[in-house]
Order: sequence, then C-alpha cells, then structure tokens
Amino acid sequence: MVRTKPLVLLFVWCSVAAAQQGPVSSGEAAKLQRQIQAGRARNVILFVGDGMGDSEITAARNYWAGAAGRLAMDSLPFTGTVTTYALREDDPSQPDYVTDSAAGGTAWATGQKTSNGRISSTAKTDKSLKTILELAQQMGYRTGNITTAEITDATPAVLGAHVNSRRCQGPEDMKDCPKYKKNAGGPGSIAEQLVDHKIDVLMGGGRQRYEQIVDGGPGEGKNTLAWAESQGYKVITTAQDLSEVQLQPGQGLLGLFNAGNMSMEWSGDPAIPYPGSGPQKCKQFMRPASEPALFAMMRKAIRLLETTDTKPQGFFLQVEGAQIDKRAHTAEPCEQIGETIAFDNAILFALEYAAGHPDTLIIVTADHGHSTQIVPEPKTDAHGTGLMSTLTTADKANMTLHYGTNSVCCSSSHSMEHTGTQVRIAAQGPQAFGVLGVHDMSEIFHLMARAIGAE
Ligand SMILES: [Zn+2]
Repeated sequence: MVRTKPLVLLFVWCSVAAAQQGPVSSGEAAKLQRQIQAGRARNVILFVGDGMGDSEITAARNYWAGAAGRLAMDSLPFTGTVTTYALREDDPSQPDYVTDSAAGGTAWATGQKTSNGRISSTAKTDKSLKTILELAQQMGYRTGNITTAEITDATPAVLGAHVNSRRCQGPEDMKDCPKYKKNAGGPGSIAEQLVDHKIDVLMGGGRQRYEQIVDGGPGEGKNTLAWAESQGYKVITTAQDLSEVQLQPGQGLLGLFNAGNMSMEWSGDPAIPYPGSGPQKCKQFMRPASEPALFAMMRKAIRLLETTDTKPQGFFLQVEGAQIDKRAHTAEPCEQIGETIAFDNAILFALEYAAGHPDTLIIVTADHGHSTQIVPEPKTDAHGTGLMSTLTTADKANMTLHYGTNSVCCSSSHSMEHTGTQVRIAAQGPQAFGVLGVHDMSEIFHLMARAIGAE
C-alpha cells in the first residue's frame, strides 16, 4: 500500500469517474469520492475478526440478515484483499501457507512476516520487531487493546509483547521461552509485558495469567495483578465494575472478566458427522451478566481513551472478535456465528462514533481464514465427510455448514484447522483507500503508520 499510493489514488479517481457512467448511481459515486481522505487520522480503530474468512462472514450474514441482507462490516466504503501466509521457522525464505494468529498478527502489527507461534519477533533469529502500538505511543497517541479471548492470547499479544512463543502467557507458563523469564533478566511473560508496555486500556479474559507470581525484577514475589496495580493500573473483573469505573489522570485500566476466554454470546448443537445436527435455530443471550459484551468494552475504551485536548493525536485501539476462530476450531456453528454478530455490533458502534468523528480510521480485517464451508444440504447418496450442521436462517431457509479440515476433532489436541486463503480487508476514514487491491497482511502496518503520521 505504501509503495503504490499515487497509483492507488489515480485508480480510485478513475474508478469513481468510471462508476459515474456505469451501474453505480452518481449519488453513490459522490459518496465514495467524499470518502477518499488522505492525511492523518486522529483515531485508529483496528478490528480483527480472528479466523473470519469470507465463508465465516457469509455464514453469519445468511443466518442473521439473510442472503440478501448486509452486516455492518459490509458497509465500509473501501474493500480489498490481503494474503495471509507465514514464514517457515527453519527457513524463513520459504512460505508456510497456513498462518496462525501469532504470525498473522505479527504481520499486521509490525509490517514484518514471521513463523507460526511467534509474537512480534523474527523467524529463526528471534529479534524483537517494533509494533504499531509502540509507534502510536511514541507519536503521542493513547492506546487500547481489547479482546474476547484471554488478553494474553496471540492477537492482543502481538501489539505489546515480544517473545518466541505464544504459549508464554503468564510468568508460570514460560517453559518454551526460558531466556524471556524475568529471573533470567528477560522482559517476562506476555501478561507482564502488556502491563510493562503501559497500554492505557487492556480488556478481555485471562485473569488466571495475572494470578501467577512474578519471578524476577522489582515485582518479584507479587502476583501479576498486584504488579499491574503497582504500575498504575486499576483492575476490574465484572461488567458492573466496567459501567462504573472512573480513572484518575495517568491511571490505566486492566479489565479481566473471565479466568480464561470470555463466555459465548450464543449456543447450539455442535456439528457432527452425516447427517449432521439440526435443522436448528441458535439460542441467543447466553453470556452471563457479569461479563460485558465486546461492544460495551469498546464503548468504554473509547470514552476512556478520548482526550479533550486539541493536539492531533487521539487514540489507537485494537478490537478482536477472538472466538469466531475458537468456535470454528471446535465446529460449533451457533457459537461461531454469535461471536461474529457480537463483533459486527462493535463495528456498528464504531461506525456511529466515526459519523461524529470523521477523522477516525476504521479497518476491519481477519488474520486468516477458517474451516467453515457453506455446502448443499446433505443427501443419503452423497455428502461431505466432515462434521456438519444445518441452521434455519433469517430467510427461514436451511443452510448447511460443513467443517472438514481435520479428520480428528474436536479436543484440546485436535481441532479443525485454519486455512491459507486470502481474507477481506475493509476500511473508512483517512488513508482508508489504501486497502483497495490485493496486498499482503504486513501492509496493514504501513497503512496505519501513514495514518498516525509515522510514515
Ligand atoms: Zn485458531
């Protein structure tokens, strides 16, 4: 994106000019033209739908809005495509065609590709890579990082931690990262590094990681929650806390609403072998009242991060819909779609915010595709060989989803696999037109860096 900026601008202008004579109405073309903004963004909100490939988006849209309906994420004016592959750890000159969230996240967070499992560090050589959140802090932006997974999971981790393995989430989880331990003189686990990076707002699950004991440095012997408090964080654990919280100037917020990943929004029957589960309607409103919705975390994050001063820097905020991925891994279509719709609700709120704050860059993308396929309804003489479930959609029609990327599923050691497909990116606001075309995921870093005035 950064290298093709004049071309992209020309392309956009030509497209709009062509659209005026083509099937797009002149009103729509004028609307598009108004959306072409260069310059700097006061705020950047990056939405990462984990594992939200085109099939996962389409399944959620069909179920929730109907085949001809639209989700909030479908309404952003500029759409493009990003390639997602990782690099091989043993030979980083070679692609690893199927990425995980750690390598995918490292690409969008740092502009550099790496091998699977690494958190913002280089393949093989294990060097730390500067992240867009670190850059935003340097440029004077306030920063936030929120997720429905553990806050120490790969996607939120890549913004504020550097470590050779995504598994090193708490100070007692450091088996794969011995030299990173604080008692070895290292920066510590992901839980510690996120706090030590002084990110203004951190919210999600993962309380268990913060109940572990810091093993070196000035916080030695404290649990990580107490260490966070000593570093200026207010710690909260319930939706009630979130609605009431107020911060002192300079205070950070650490919201940990579940010991592990946050609870599901919806539930239903999992996919099973032929003839599959269903036809079923999903059960909604399953999330316990003690845990906030993703959009509620996001609304509060924006309120806490907004400043009233007149400087151009506002905030950088990452919002992850984490469990679209996790429930595709376990072939649970209702849970997966419920998480996609919850993610879309957060996007809807961001779009409403941006209507009053047009200097906000909003980007919606995924880090990789997943296993969900929309297939014909299974028949006795011919059907898929994986797990399937038929859902009754908003169209009052049957939609069969098929999960077939692993022969063994679903347990903690064997689950449905990611896929190596390209994924959608959509954007609006300053620099948003840069998503047009086909790019690599690492270019998202450069687009955001341009938007905050760092490139
Ligand atoms: Zn995954």
